[in-house]
This record gives sequence, structure tokens and C-alpha cells, in this order.
Amino acid sequence: MLKKITIRLFKTLAKFLVGFILITIIAATLIIKLSGTKHVELPANKLIINDITRLNPVTVSKVIRPTNIAQVSNALRLFKGPISIGGGKFSQGGQTAYPDSLHLDMRSFNQVIELNTEQQWVTVQSGITWRDLQEVIDKHDLSIKIMQTYANFTVGGSLSVNVHGRYIGEGPLVRSVISLKLILADGEVVVASPTQHSELFYGVIGGYGGLAVIAEATLQLVPNIKVERQTSTMAFSDYYQYFKQSIRDNDQVVFHNADIYPPDYNDVRSVNWLKSDKDVTEQARLIPKGKQYGWQPKAADFVADYAIGKWARQHIIDPYMYDEEAVYWRNFEASYDVNELEPSDRSETTYALREYFVPVDNIERFARKMTDIFTKHNANIINVSVRHALPDPGTLLAWAPQEVFAFVIYYRQGTDLISQANVKAWSQEVIDAVISENGSYYLPYQIHATTEQFKKAYPRADQYFALKDKIDPNNRFNNKLWQAHYPKNSDAFSQEKESIPQYYRNEGQTLLTIPEWYLVFNPLEYADFLAAGNNPSNFPFMASIDEYWRLYDQVTHLSEINYPRNEEYLTMLQVIGISTTIEYMYKAAYETTIGRLTHWTANKQPTAEDRIISDAHRAYSDLIFEQAWYEFDFSHWLGKVWLEPDFFGDNFIRKLERKLFFSLEFGFKHLYAGAIKYAAKNSYEASDGNIYMIATSHIPLEASNLYDAKILASKEQQYLLSVPRWGGFSENIPKLANAGVTFNDISGNNAIAVSFITNKQREFIPSLGKLLFKSRQVSQPEVKRVVYLVSVDTLTPFINQLDRNGHQIEHIFDY
Ligand SMILES: Cc1cc2nc3c(=O)[nH]c(=O)nc-3n(C[C@H](O)[C@H](O)[C@H](O)COP(=O)(O)OP(=O)(O)OC[C@H]3O[C@@H](n4cnc5c(N)ncnc54)[C@H](O)[C@@H]3O)c2cc1C
Repeated sequence: MLKKITIRLFKTLAKFLVGFILITIIAATLIIKLSGTKHVELPANKLIINDITRLNPVTVSKVIRPTNIAQVSNALRLFKGPISIGGGKFSQGGQTAYPDSLHLDMRSFNQVIELNTEQQWVTVQSGITWRDLQEVIDKHDLSIKIMQTYANFTVGGSLSVNVHGRYIGEGPLVRSVISLKLILADGEVVVASPTQHSELFYGVIGGYGGLAVIAEATLQLVPNIKVERQTSTMAFSDYYQYFKQSIRDNDQVVFHNADIYPPDYNDVRSVNWLKSDKDVTEQARLIPKGKQYGWQPKAADFVADYAIGKWARQHIIDPYMYDEEAVYWRNFEASYDVNELEPSDRSETTYALREYFVPVDNIERFARKMTDIFTKHNANIINVSVRHALPDPGTLLAWAPQEVFAFVIYYRQGTDLISQANVKAWSQEVIDAVISENGSYYLPYQIHATTEQFKKAYPRADQYFALKDKIDPNNRFNNKLWQAHYPKNSDAFSQEKESIPQYYRNEGQTLLTIPEWYLVFNPLEYADFLAAGNNPSNFPFMASIDEYWRLYDQVTHLSEINYPRNEEYLTMLQVIGISTTIEYMYKAAYETTIGRLTHWTANKQPTAEDRIISDAHRAYSDLIFEQAWYEFDFSHWLGKVWLEPDFFGDNFIRKLERKLFFSLEFGFKHLYAGAIKYAAKNSYEASDGNIYMIATSHIPLEASNLYDAKILASKEQQYLLSVPRWGGFSENIPKLANAGVTFNDISGNNAIAVSFITNKQREFIPSLGKLLFKSRQVSQPEVKRVVYLVSVDTLTPFINQLDRNGHQIEHIFDY
């Protein structure tokens, strides 16, 4: 009998639990669906320069789009800080941007200045794309002599990289350049050619915007002829012999490349375009601009996603595609659009390139080493395209100082930090492998090489840097590539900075921490609400949930259009959002029913238990400004609420109900905190508790009161500082700002989110920074929280402006 009752009891309890969980899931899902905002209209931050991989956001201080030389010269004379230069921005490692720089976006500097059809040359402004140039010269039956496979790139960007294409009997772009018009750091204009200012000519071409702005270029052209495709497949081991016999000295071959098929890398398809007299099979003379590409990006996804995709490409898709007869105009074959590769989404994974150059005789040894590394790291390689280049005539950063084969690697990678670290690991190994074969690697892609590897691959870099010291003595022309390798960017002060393991933080996290901090501000609001003697049943719990999800929607949208997707942080925000939704949902349901009833039984007066609970929430909200919530001593307050007040006494119902309710809430949190603490300690790198920054001060900081900041290194008026994180950061930064300290970079970033509280009636609008959004104080409709994104170098004037207008920083969101 007892057994039966126990079983029945157990079954009822189990049913109750399942029902409870189901109701919780359904109700929380509904509430989350109805909360937040789906209509976020926040524009992309135009001061963030990024490239197509979306992996390299850099905030600059100003962007200009010049259309003539005088505008560039004037800008260089007026702006005293660093200068970065961008063309099509298809380089993939921040080569077009430098923090806080004046960014010259050259894409409107795009006119054809002179076309000589007889002598077959053209002078263009450097921001013109190959595709726009083709539009002009095609009408005169002329073609670009050397360019990349795709036509979206600008002439200036291509010259600064010294690009190559698939042309046989050619090589780096420098081989087709007659002369350049350059603008130096002081605004002076000079002409450079192989015979005039030749060192500048050979430094600027392939010089990645580190020496001067390329204003104009005069380039050789060639006739636009018809070309016919022929392809053949072979074992990779037979390729070099085949190339020497049939391709290298064959003056009928215009374009050639050989695709090696992953994941085995044993077979190759040679694709050759030969001069032809046949009728064209494609009437268009150029691939139309703005064409929509439906299946091509999907096919790349299919090849990247599945082993069978790679097999199908080699055995079905390519044989079918190349079976068709193709006779095109040369310009048609040279006008590919990168949109044919563009995936629908780059947030979680992105496609990127890497390239290695190896002296022709070492092709097989290098290929073996490279493919072993790919296999070892399980790299998701989609294609390896081999091209050929004759030697460079003398650029200082030549990637082809001798005749080489280029291995162009097209691959897919995750955007998360682990995937990025994995790509860095295999990239560095392949760079070692290519250096061991006397080769080099390409510089426009992600900057993974160490400076030692860079120097080995580019042995004339010292000459390049000596030239830079001479013509750009103040190091104006800068970008991420030169930040990594130019010795002047790496003095003792910078080295000290680089040696701090936790110096750099992800800039996008300044936004993502906003909803997380809301779960600090909201408990403070609740503690204030209780301390003011309000009935807890009146606290707007549901509005708090809605506000959390509104902030979540806004910051995820904002960070995704400006920064790489931060999967770990987003997951964490979802987890804390869901648990808060469940907690507040039950609190709201309870407080507005039973809580309200017991409050009424106590004549709407707070009991001793109410006061202890209010103090507990105050202590909790104080702690979470400095520490993780799970560090709070919930059990201490549980003991207090049971032991301190008399058990019986006036308003016994309310007293008992409060004790029970509080025990349920804090008891559950006590257990939950233990689990989260364990998970957090095992999954996140422990923070050293500091934020690091470079600051400038005109009074010697050593002698002054630095609050909690510490000086780690100093140079002239610059200081490398550490400041405690979280609440301490928001307290210390305004004090430093009031002492006249300005900030150059914080955690390697140039933008930071800041909030302050303002009155709805007398709203204050600062003239600095950019308003991101306004957020409700749910219990005080007359005030609101305003969140601004502020450039780090204007943080001090921003804080001072608030001060002058009687406002105070509420919080600085420290990544
Ligand atoms: C899909 C794809 C295919 C590619 N195929 C090839 C290929 O076949 N062959 C090849 O060689 N490369 C190839 N690349 C690499 C490409 O050629 C380079 O990234 C090139 O820089 C792109 O030109 P851009 O206009 O986008 O230059 P950006 O990326 O805008 O700039 C590149 C560099 O040039 C500097 N710069 C730009 N304009 C000027 C200027 N006016 N004056 C001074 N400096 C300037 C910038 O500061 C930067 O350092 C490819 C890249 C992609 C994404």
C-alpha cells in the first residue's frame, strides 16, 4: 500500500515537473518573441573600414573621397596624424586602414585622363577600377596588359600590391607600368618612372600605401583579341614537364592557370586560352556589370561544405563546364566580377585567399610540403590555382625576384577566434615551407606572418624602410601591414604594449556588453525602487524583460554590420537573457498575485523582512558592478532573513510569505550560481582584471594622483596605463579625463560605448560621439539612459561636455 502511494506520488510529482517545465518553456518563448524590437534602423558606422572578409574592422578618425590631386595634397598638409589609403578594399588584412587615421577613399578619383590608341597606353586616376577602364578601352579594341583575374580592383590598389594575372610571358603588374604621378606626405607631387625617381617608382609599386599616394598611372595596353579555351587534366607530378614543353614559351597562349583539386591534391586541370580566329561563342565583349550570380556562390558553399562537393567539382561540375566550346574576346575573359564568389552571408564563415610564390624548379617539393600542412590542419581548401610569373624588374618588395609559380589558395574559414587562430597556425607553417624553398608569400591577405618571416620572404625590406624613413620621416602613411612590420612602429614603448597578453580586446564587445550591463543597471533600479519603500509587486518586471531584448536586438544588429560575428558572446547573452526572462516572468506572476495579497494583509507597510530583502538587493547590485553575479553570498542573506527578525509578530502572513519567497529566489540562485561559476571558470580565460590603454597627458602623470591607474611605460607625453575593469573603469576614466588625460587607444580600439542618464523633459544632446539608442529606466518613466558610441580620442572632451552640462557618465562599456 505504502509502495503504491509512493509510486503514485512520484508519478504525480514527475507529471507536475514536466508540466512546469513545459509551461516555462512555452511562456518564456512567447515572452521573448513579443519582447525586444525587430525594426532596428541603425546605420553602419562609416568610420569603420573593413574588407570583404569582414575580419578586420578598423576605426579611422575621418574619411575623405577626393576627386582631384589638390584635394589630396591639401588634406595631407592640413591633417597632422596618420594617413591610410583605400582602393577597392579587397585586400584582406587591414592593409587599407590604420586606427585614427585620415582615410583616403580613392574610389571617386576615377577618371581616364588620356588614352593614346596609337601607341597603346592610357593615363588614369588611380581610383578607377579595371572594369571601368575596360569600358573605355574596349571601344578602341584595346586590352589591359596585366591585371588580376577579376576586374573589380582599383588601379591604385593593384599597383600598391604589384598584382599579377594568368598571363603567359608576363608577371607582376610593374612590367606594364610606364610612369606614376605620386603625392608625398607633405603634399608635393612628383612623377616617377624606371628612369625618373626610380627608387620611388620601385618602392611605391608593391609598397602597400606606405610611401606615397599614387595619383595617376600610365599603363601599357595591348590589342583586344579573340581567345579560345582548351583544357586538359593530368597528374600533378606531370604538370611541370607539361608546362615547360607546352605553355611557357608558347606565344599562342594568352591566359593559363592550373587548378589542383583538394582534398587529395594529386590531379590538376590546366586551363589555357589561346589566340584564335574563330567566331566568338559569346557575343558580349565584356561581362555585364551588376550581373546576378545565383548558382556560383551556392556551388562554392557545396564544395566547401561536403567532401562529396569536392569530388563532384572534380568529376562532374568542372568536366561539364569545360566541355563547352568557348571563344571569347580577351576583355570578356578579363572582366570577371567578384560577386560571382560572394556568399549570401559572411557572419559565421568567410571565404579568403592566401598565396605563395616558389621558384619554378621547386614547385613539386613545395606543393608536397604545403598539402601536408593543409591535411594536418584539416584546412577547408576549395581551390589551389597555379599561375606563372616572369621575374620582377626591381621593385623593393618583389614577390617574384626570379621566375616563379604562384599558388593561389581559395579557402573557407570560421570567423570565430579559434578558427582564426587555426588559420594563422597553418598559414605560418606554409610560410616557413615556402621560405625553405627560397620562395615568398603574398602580402595583401591576412597578416599572419611574423616580422622574421616577412624579412626572410622580402629581403629588400630594409631598403624599402630606409626609403620610407627618408621620404615619410614622420611615418604618416600607415596601415595594419606596416603597423606589424615597420620598425618605427615597434619601439620599446610599443613592444611593452605588445607584450601584454590581454591588451587587445574585440571592439565589437563594447556594444555586446550593453545588454549584459543592463542586468547590472536593472537590479540597481530594483534596489533603489525597494529602498524608496515601494511595493515590490509594482516593479515593472515584464518591461525589464522587454528592455533587455530590445537592447539585445539593437546591439546584435549594430555589431554584426560593423564587426565579425562574436558567437561566444552572443550565446552568453542568449543564456543570461533566457534565464532572466524565466526569473522575471515568475517573479511578475507571483508578485502581482500572492505578493500583492500579502502586502495588503500587512496594511501595505514594509515588514522587517521586506527591509532585509531590500538591503540584500542593494548589496547584490553593489557587488555586480565589480564582480560576476555568481560571486555573491546568497546564503548569508538567507540566514539573515530567517534569523534576524522575530519569527512571529505583526503582519505574520506577510513576514512568513516574504521569507519563503525570498528563500525560494535566493536559494535557487545560490545553487544556480555554483553551477555557472564552475562553467565560467572552465570555459573563459580568466581576466587579469585590467583594461590597458595609451593615453596622452601634458602634465607629467608620474607626479600626479592617478587614482587606480598604473603607469606601465612612458614615452614623451604618452603613457601606457592599466586601469581596473568593470565598475572601476567607469569610475577612473572620468577622473583621469578631468585631470586632463586624453586617450589614444583603449584595448587597441578606437571606439567605445558610453551611457549617461538624462531627463526626458530637458534632454541633453552632446555634440560629440554618435547616438546609438535610448533605453528606458523602467521604474522611472521621466528619465532615460542614452548610449553613445564615442571615438576614444574624443572621450575626454565628451566627458567634459557632459560635466559642463550637469550630466555624469553612467557607464563606459569596457569590451
Ligand atoms: C576574389 C579575389 C581575387 C583576387 N585575385 C587576384 C589575382 O588574380 N591576382 C592578384 O595578384 N591578386 C589578386 N587578389 C588580390 C588583390 O589583387 C589585392 O587585394 C588588391 O589590392 C585589390 O585591389 P584594391 O583596389 O581592392 O586594393 P585595396 O585593398 O583597396 O588596397 C590595397 C593596398 O593598396 C594601397 N592603395 C590603394 N590605393 C592606393 C593609392 N591610390 N595610392 C597608394 N596606395 C594605395 C592600400 O593602402 C593597400 O595597402 C584577389 C583578391 C580577391 C579578393
